Amino acid sequence: MRIKKENGRLSVPDAADIVYIEGDGVGHEITEKMIRVLNAAIEHAYDGKRSINWRKALAGGEAIEKTGCNLPDETIEAIKDSLIAIKGPLMTPVGKGARSINVALRQTLDLYACVRPVEYFEGVPSPLKHPENVDLVIFRENTEDIYAGIEWDEGTEDVKRVIAFLRSEMNVNRIRFPETSAIGVKPVSKEGSERLIRAAIDYAIANKRRSVTLVHKGNIMKFTEGGFLRWGYELAEREYSAYKEDNRLYIPVPDGRIEIKNCICDAFLQNILLHPEAYDVVATLNLNGDYVSDAVAAEVGGIGIAPGANINYMTGAAVFEATHGTAPDIAGKNVVNPLSIILSGVMMLEYIGWTEAAESIRNAIRKMIASGYVTKDLWLLIPEDERRSSYLGTAEFTGMLISSICEI
Ligand code: NAD
Repeated sequence: MRIKKENGRLSVPDAADIVYIEGDGVGHEITEKMIRVLNAAIEHAYDGKRSINWRKALAGGEAIEKTGCNLPDETIEAIKDSLIAIKGPLMTPVGKGARSINVALRQTLDLYACVRPVEYFEGVPSPLKHPENVDLVIFRENTEDIYAGIEWDEGTEDVKRVIAFLRSEMNVNRIRFPETSAIGVKPVSKEGSERLIRAAIDYAIANKRRSVTLVHKGNIMKFTEGGFLRWGYELAEREYSAYKEDNRLYIPVPDGRIEIKNCICDAFLQNILLHPEAYDVVATLNLNGDYVSDAVAAEVGGIGIAPGANINYMTGAAVFEATHGTAPDIAGKNVVNPLSIILSGVMMLEYIGWTEAAESIRNAIRKMIASGYVTKDLWLLIPEDERRSSYLGTAEFTGMLISSICEI
């Protein structure tokens, strides 16, 4: 049965339809394992009263083979119909004219928030002295900014027209090398910024977080990044009754308050190494979010373990995903770490409100990693005298995880 968004809330039936896309490369190994882990946790948590009705949809290599198109319309229709999907990594097509599946999904479903929780599991190797202080959720704006794809190549007639327009109509005389410049445009809107920041604040309230930090570069890009910051503060005051105290801004919540603060992006990248405990929920623009998510993920185990989702909180549509690529160098070798997509599945369970099942998976992962049971990527990073004599293969890791979920 379908999950629906009704009266601003998700309505989730006990047998819920969810679309899955297997993915290319290591996707063939990890997606099926994620499904087994989620099924086991749901069965265990709800004694068979709840279940997911997995609906397979095609995208990537398998879709090209079977339909000649890398993202068939039926796949988009299936996700629109079921509202929620989870996907393995997809090979980005090389060459002009081929559309990127990830971008197409984000645009078609207007998935404006890229959500990346970054949490430390004890035992994961980290370059930080105190990785246990890292516990962030990053909300990256997904539809605007320099990523909107509005740019013109150097030397083209189009770029010459844009530069001529800027010089003659807009009085722009600061382009250093006008004859050889490419030009990109960075749209950042009030609506786009507000809906992203609203999602971050709502998340902070719902999950009893301490602060929301707006990360920006408004000191240099005053109207775009500076606008993001200003609109965010205004939104907090207008919609959440934020108040100032000692030059700080707070949102009142039933059991206390949430601070709304900001940080310039370059300082933020330094601070997450030196004082990660200062940050909690983070809202930022598209390009900053790209850099920041990977930098913070690297502090607590890197791409093999980092989950993610692209969400439209207004329609409810959400696509959860492994954040890494297809890893062709290790595909088919039983060494890929399945945790990125499994933890994305945990996020998905939390999103639909099946938190008991989500928590049982999280606890089992904690227990396994703390006991040194890890896949090759993490094992190689643990000092020789601290690690187990060998790592677990993907299949063995998953099998042990499922046993552990059922024991807890
Ligand atoms: P990648 O993430 O596939 O691999 C980078 C490195 O990390 C490789 O050495 C790989 O073995 C390792 N790695 C990645 N995931 C791992 C895991 N779960 N466990 C252990 N090791 C892991 O990046 P790439 O090589 O730059 O890209 C390969 C393909 O994937 C390209 O076609 C790219 O466009 C695509 N891609 C897709 C997505 C997506 O679908 N979301 C994201 C990034 C890249």
